[in-house]
Amino acid sequence: MRDRSRLLKDAEPGTRGPVLHWMRREFRVESNPGLLLARELAEENGVGLGVVVCLPEAHELPSLRQLRFLLDGLRPLQARLRALNIPFFLRVGDPAAQVADLARSARISALTTDFDPLRPAGRHLRTLLETVNAPVWESDGRNTVPCWLVSDKKEYMARTIRPKIHRLLPEFMASLPALRAAPAPWPAQAGTAPAGEADWSAAEAHAAKAYPAAPVDWVTSAEQTGEPQGGQRLDAFVRGGLRGYAENRNDPVKDASSRLSPWLHFGFLSALDAALAAAKSSAPQEDKDAFLEELIVRRELADNFCLHEPRYDALDACAAWAQATLDKHRGDKRSYVYDFNTLEKGETHQPLWNAAQRQLVDEGFLHGYMRMYWAKKILEWSPTPEEALDAVVRLNDCWSLDGMDSNGYAGAAWSVCGVHDRGWAERPVFGSIRYMNSNGARRKFDAAEYVRRYAGVEQARAFASRK
Ligand code: FAD
Repeated sequence: MRDRSRLLKDAEPGTRGPVLHWMRREFRVESNPGLLLARELAEENGVGLGVVVCLPEAHELPSLRQLRFLLDGLRPLQARLRALNIPFFLRVGDPAAQVADLARSARISALTTDFDPLRPAGRHLRTLLETVNAPVWESDGRNTVPCWLVSDKKEYMARTIRPKIHRLLPEFMASLPALRAAPAPWPAQAGTAPAGEADWSAAEAHAAKAYPAAPVDWVTSAEQTGEPQGGQRLDAFVRGGLRGYAENRNDPVKDASSRLSPWLHFGFLSALDAALAAAKSSAPQEDKDAFLEELIVRRELADNFCLHEPRYDALDACAAWAQATLDKHRGDKRSYVYDFNTLEKGETHQPLWNAAQRQLVDEGFLHGYMRMYWAKKILEWSPTPEEALDAVVRLNDCWSLDGMDSNGYAGAAWSVCGVHDRGWAERPVFGSIRYMNSNGARRKFDAAEYVRRYAGVEQARAFASRK
């Protein structure tokens, strides 16, 4: 697994203790390069292997619906690890301190972890690197081609990163071996006792501190989340939904995209496995190509953006042309201005936008086309582009099951400040940032039906009467 990993710290541990894998982005047993690397290192040294997950402090926690989705998925994960003699530690609090504490008490000989370019993850890792006295590795289990190999700079757009990814794809589009049982037991005294018994009640109590976005009903029970469900949903999509994807995916009423993003976001599903399954399927080539473009190129472009742009959720992240055009139109009169609460409640003058916000709140999911439209309108109705970007990121991070993801930060930056896009015809407020309106939506799909589905008959009538 060293081809998908890099050594972040080389240290002589001075012990022959176990290997610890800190799982923080890829919550799965299969096709997990970080876990496979940990198993390899344990085998080389004839030592045990354990996994730790840490829920961060309240201000960094995902929202309640996201946490519910995560915690319910961690229970089957613990059971699968236990069957492989790999103890599972569930901690709560400052991740760097918690993992360092476990590493110290277990006298580990190596630490492995998931690659994650987002700021909180980077902060925790930097602190941990200073305190842990053992070699530390990170593995990219999110991207098909490891993010740091694709490019060493912030890419302009899909067109510039695509050839770089495609050049390396033949080397990395290969399935990973199954995880085998730990080569040795976890030492009796190492870590919290008894090893591998996660303290679920502490985690549940901690979850109560999260932003209170209620869990959503299409994924409320433990049977609907986690790695097993990720695999089943992928199978169902590849067998039934992939055919026709190229033509139908942009229609929010047909709802023909995979809806795999929550499972991909938590790493319950490996994007590599999804790509291999799609590539092998009997669906028409144009459907496979369209899906792989989103799953590989667009998704890896988002991680490239966050890796090379530390201010990925601020206006500074956008290109000079975009900053200049937004500045030029800063003083333009807005026809409507809404504050965060009005947006969150979905109470604007516009039924189509309200329907999108309701879908987001009710389902924890928003169709890809509607995400773009929804974010563009927030730019149109906010006092400043900074407030618009902030509202898009906050609403998406709190309400979307797949929120707090580099895809979300890149999507927000694309919509509000032209990241990965080019300039368009100049107009008020937007300047030359690409504009979208409800007439475009009406032309593309049955927008009145979308409004009826998510905002009700009254709003659909109001929408129809405003042609
Ligand atoms: P499918 O069309 O089935 O695509 C398969 C997978 O490819 C997706 O699950 C996703 O992992 C990836 N993908 C698809 N489109 C994109 C894209 N444009 N950029 C990057 N990856 C993509 N995606 C998230 O995962 N989390 C978010 O929080 C998020 N927020 C967004 C906010 C805005 C304002 C915008 C414009 C886009 C956002 N996206 C986000 C990207 C995209 O809209 C979703 O990934 C996609 O709609 C998820 O639906 P799906 O799984 O049915 O996608």
